[in-house]
Amino acid sequence: IIESLSDLEKVEVLGHGDGGTVYKVRHKKSSCIYALKVLRFDNNAATGILQQVAREAEILKLVDSPYVIRCHGVFDSGAFMSPDHSNNEGGGDLCFVMEYMEGGSLHDVLRARQRLPEQLISRVAKCVLQGLRYLHAMQIVHRDIKPSNLLINGRGEIKIADFGVSHMVAGADEACDLHMGTYAYMSPERFDPERWGGRNADGFAGDVWSLGLVVLQCYVGRFPLIGPGQKPDWPTLMCVICFGDQRLEMPETASPEFRSFIWRCLEKDWRKRAKVDELLDHPFVNKTCCASTDQELVNFVFPVD
Ligand code: ATP
Ligand code: MG
Repeated sequence: IIESLSDLEKVEVLGHGDGGTVYKVRHKKSSCIYALKVLRFDNNAATGILQQVAREAEILKLVDSPYVIRCHGVFDSGAFMSPDHSNNEGGGDLCFVMEYMEGGSLHDVLRARQRLPEQLISRVAKCVLQGLRYLHAMQIVHRDIKPSNLLINGRGEIKIADFGVSHMVAGADEACDLHMGTYAYMSPERFDPERWGGRNADGFAGDVWSLGLVVLQCYVGRFPLIGPGQKPDWPTLMCVICFGDQRLEMPETASPEFRSFIWRCLEKDWRKRAKVDELLDHPFVNKTCCASTDQELVNFVFPVD
């Protein structure tokens, strides 16, 4: 049990994100390894951000699923990263002690290996869907499903991380705030609520859309909606997500099961888009997945050569 941040020592930096840095840390007494996400905020931080962060902390404490990253504690301290407070101008750090995932994120894996074979993509899809089923049953919409928020451990388990912009459906007024989340993986109804009926959307379907893009990215080896030379800026994304036909991106070489799976995720009308339960019954998840093992994913993520 981690009682305070002083129980931990830094081992190395694992990565940087929008709001902070993730460290590999060791629990001094037990030698257990954890990941520590440090979110910086100064005292000018907008109340919206602080509320968002507080929400993240509350949600994380409730979550207990093998498909979602465990949080072992949340600490509020500027002292840990900066013992003399020298670079702590009255602001603070919010530190999340998380389970350490030695394979890093799917983003890291794709950077190293470029693409995944279909059987392994179907394992990714199955785990993410099980994580989403758990979260959605708790009335939690993740809202930021993307490769860097899907983590892999040494047993070949894949788990959803990062509730930075997730929220409890009930009581969140900013449900349609376009400025939260990652544009690239954002569904049509979040991008353009007027045209795609986003005002009535519950948000769950948006997570399914994002998953569809992630699995397609795993197959084609790059972000699928835009050309290699195109910038993923807001107008470009707006254009392809809201007006383009995602299904034209469908690779010819993909199996019929995979194509049908992507098709059901990237349905533009969120009312017609597949629900998580339907996708868990989909042959791509049921059948294709059986053609591989956790060990194959481990070998793929940690190649010996
Ligand atoms: P965003 O700020 O939009 O979430 P991001 O997901 O890239 O972007 P972080 O969540 O800060 O940023 O994560 C940065 C990187 O740290 C990840 O890509 C991953 O490589 C690594 N990482 C994050 N959490 C863990 C963890 N629990 N175990 C191991 N590595 C992790
Ligand atoms: Mg992240």
